[in-house]
Amino acid sequence: MNRREFNKSFAVSLAALGLGGVPAIARKPAPQFSITMDDFHWHNAVKLTATDRNQAILDTLHANSIKAALFVIGRNIDSDEGKQLLSPWDKAGHLIGNHTYSHRNYNASDAVIEEYEKDILRAEALLKDFPHFRKYFRFPALKEGDTAARRDRMREFLVTHGYRNGYVTIDNSDWAIDQRLTTRLKKDASAGVKPYRDFYMEHMWARAEYYDALARRVLGRPVKHTVLVHFNLLNGLFLGDLIAMFKSKGWQPVDAEEAFTDPVFTSKPNVLPAGESIVWSLAKEKGTIPKSLRYPAEDGEYENARMNKLGL
Ligand SMILES: [Zn+2]
Repeated sequence: MNRREFNKSFAVSLAALGLGGVPAIARKPAPQFSITMDDFHWHNAVKLTATDRNQAILDTLHANSIKAALFVIGRNIDSDEGKQLLSPWDKAGHLIGNHTYSHRNYNASDAVIEEYEKDILRAEALLKDFPHFRKYFRFPALKEGDTAARRDRMREFLVTHGYRNGYVTIDNSDWAIDQRLTTRLKKDASAGVKPYRDFYMEHMWARAEYYDALARRVLGRPVKHTVLVHFNLLNGLFLGDLIAMFKSKGWQPVDAEEAFTDPVFTSKPNVLPAGESIVWSLAKEKGTIPKSLRYPAEDGEYENARMNKLGL
């Protein structure tokens, strides 16, 4: 064994004993994150076919040994093709959740409560036979009600039907970057995708740092994060880079079902309008840090100036 090999093996032995570098007791626990993916829109295939996008995302999760949660819009699996695309998610053991049948915004002025409830049950009828369907519900656009009566009625409805809220902790606008990317590719199929990737990483890390710091401030502890992403081309191409970035920052991936065991997800913040990230809602409820709480918490509009500047 030469000196270099000796040093390396000595470091490995120290690490095995928990003695490498910073003493174990002083080490800050690594932030934990899970992947929770919304919509399952596969009709809008650009660059990758629906099947290729589906496979790319599943392969990325498999390569990282991550079980995600997929919040499915019922109408997207109301066909043989849709069901066939969802089946490998179920077989791979990813959590399948309910995201309504037709993706209505509960805070929209014309949203009728009874119709919204039927829309949830209509999605459930299509999802319930998938063995990995679990009763987690995610509100489209994270909008949970704009009056106390509407918010509380839906909370009661979900409990009655055995659902938990599939809250997001790290909200963001991945969908807005995807819109720019697909618009560009429709105009010019050979356009470079790297600038979109780079901005996606920059944006996601900024949102992750923001919500992680907010969670620690509001709860006095770290949370097991649920990162919101969408089933889109952006993630068909770059979900692997996103996971690698989080890991490179020292964050540890966990399965979505494990993340949802964090007690933060049983909170019912008393705020209006209700919704957005659960961390945002709890911060608003606490009321001590209102200045950092814009509404909506996230929107593509906030990213337009930067995306324009980057020529995206
Ligand atoms: Zn959605």
